[in-house]
Amino acid sequence: MANHGKAPYVVRAPTAVLTRGFDPRLSVGSARPAVFRSSTYVFSSPEAAERAFAIALGRSQPAKGESVDLIYSRLSHPNAEILEDQIVPLEPEAQASAVFNSGMAAISTLFFTFCRPGASFVYTTPLYGGTQHLIHQLLEPLGMQGVPVAAGDTAALRASIAGAERLSLVFVETPANPTLVMSDIAAAADAARALGERPLVVVDNTFLGPAFQHPLKHGADLVVYSATKYLSGHGDTVCGVVSGRRELIDPIRYELDALGGAVSPFNSWLVARGMRTLPLRLDVHTRNAAALAALLEARPEVAWVAYPGLESHPQHELATRVLPRGCGGMLSLRLEGGEREMYAFVNALELASIAVSLGDLKTLVYPMPKRDNLIRVSVGCEDLDDLVADVERGLAAIPAR
Ligand SMILES: *Cc1c(COP(=O)(O)O)cnc(C)c1O
Repeated sequence: MANHGKAPYVVRAPTAVLTRGFDPRLSVGSARPAVFRSSTYVFSSPEAAERAFAIALGRSQPAKGESVDLIYSRLSHPNAEILEDQIVPLEPEAQASAVFNSGMAAISTLFFTFCRPGASFVYTTPLYGGTQHLIHQLLEPLGMQGVPVAAGDTAALRASIAGAERLSLVFVETPANPTLVMSDIAAAADAARALGERPLVVVDNTFLGPAFQHPLKHGADLVVYSATKYLSGHGDTVCGVVSGRRELIDPIRYELDALGGAVSPFNSWLVARGMRTLPLRLDVHTRNAAALAALLEARPEVAWVAYPGLESHPQHELATRVLPRGCGGMLSLRLEGGEREMYAFVNALELASIAVSLGDLKTLVYPMPKRDNLIRVSVGCEDLDDLVADVERGLAAIPAR
């Protein structure tokens, strides 16, 4: 950076993603980062190696401005560091981030860091499928007790937090996948603070992306992202992130070393590259989604639309409070009728791809016959008129009843 050596300027997030994290002087003047593929790093001296291990394993803290040698790519590498430096400013209250080879690696590592056998955790439902699997197939059999609470039920959330024994973590996914029901992060943080032994409040903020909802500002301790989705934005990488206070990120990093969820240099590079356009993309996603949600809601073929920006959304009031910049690019709908109507609609779409995942530049739809024929839509950045034409094509294909 041009001001290298001076205190960093304080800049806004869209500027930070363009300017943070990379010093060309460390890469023979290359204006953009190289992919550092090395598995291991050469120490400048045996003493420097000792020092690097002491810091990596938490036995010592780096002095201000101290340059610490890299050790081994499972612990960290330049591309992971560049990505972390770029991500931190996206959460106004975050001091540090750790990056992982997937969103699930981030979520599982943070559970294994802060929740021990015998402890309990509260989690909102519905929940991303991978997280559910983690809870029921791994955490509960290991003796950690999960306490489910329905997303959007603030009184139940408060009561579960107040009543759980040996509570170590509160895991809130908001908006929830795939119903887009929103939970009140501030209420969870408030209930957690009222306890003697305060549990950590963790928010899976994947559905909104960091431009719209800032969980740490509402009292959460950690925010987790599947960076596969909006952060990467191009649908060509799997990656995960946790951001928060340094004292919480450091212990996560020690377990990341043990659990082996390090992200590869190339995938870090791809996400860092995709993130430069994140603020631009998110504004288009949210504008297109808001327009499609309003259009769908007004149509007689459509029975139900879930989008936090609609007045009909059950937590619309909460959404207007916590999402001043827009309500994101995800919406869900159900058609009048059932499976036949859903399949006719989805099969007639020509622009939208039928796929899981979300946050891609391209629109993705995923019909869920087992979820009462809900159709989840990740609204992309295509021209809005083309998206509207595609929705009209789908609606026109629904057979008369
Ligand atoms: C995709 C997703 C995850 C898991 O992330 P991966 O990168 O696929 O491992 C977790 N939570 C939510 C809400 C997601 O959408």
